[in-house]
Amino acid sequence: MPTGEQSRRSLAVAIDGPAGAGKSTVAREVAAALGYAYIDTGAMYRAVAYRALREGLQVGQDDQAIADLARRMRFEFRQTGEGQHLFLDGEDVEAAIRTPEVGNLSSPVSALPQVRERLVAAQRELAGSGGVVMEGRDIGTVVLPHAEVKIFLTASEEERARRRQGQLRDQGLERSLEQILAEQRERDARDSSRAVAPLRPAQDAFVLVSDGLLREQVVAEIVARVRAAEEGACQ
Ligand code: C5P
Repeated sequence: MPTGEQSRRSLAVAIDGPAGAGKSTVAREVAAALGYAYIDTGAMYRAVAYRALREGLQVGQDDQAIADLARRMRFEFRQTGEGQHLFLDGEDVEAAIRTPEVGNLSSPVSALPQVRERLVAAQRELAGSGGVVMEGRDIGTVVLPHAEVKIFLTASEEERARRRQGQLRDQGLERSLEQILAEQRERDARDSSRAVAPLRPAQDAFVLVSDGLLREQVVAEIVARVRAAEEGACQ
């Protein structure tokens, strides 16, 4: 039996959880520490919302057109000088998809079954045969149900709202905590109650509550779990 790096198998790691739990930063750092690819599935739903907005399409009225749009879209994650960005049909949409307007619309867009069907297929393709950290809402339950490591990362409502406020401030956007909390509650409720792929931990997920933990501690906990699973997978 070989030892060390060579004996490690590249696994699939699913990181799910509600908005503002710190998933993106944590998932990105976990992927970097492991040398795995990182896939932000929320960015893909945001991209559909962004295109729908740009084309003047509305959820509830133009659902078929939004689904057709999603079906035609080509998603690619590429490394840039500013980190990994999502390219949509060759266009760098990273900044455009991070606005609060697109964020709010991405939730109803992601509740459309035909959009989910298309994006889940694209996500499975991007995941390939492992060596991937995929972050979202339904990765452990729907997209990669056989992922070897599943983490449900969450935090209290207030903690998540404070983090979101900090992120928006970094983008030069000032929002009150009350406003963020209200939008977050609406998004959480919609994501948890939708008929298709509602937000919930997979049965075999490890639930990690990050209140009071440093980001480094959360990353170290997940990396340790993946390393243990890698060793186990080679026994
Ligand atoms: O994670 P992020 O906030 O960027 O996700 C944007 C929206 O996409 C979320 O509000 C959620 O409704 C949706 N989403 C989803 N399934 C995923 C990832 C994101 O429904 N796997």
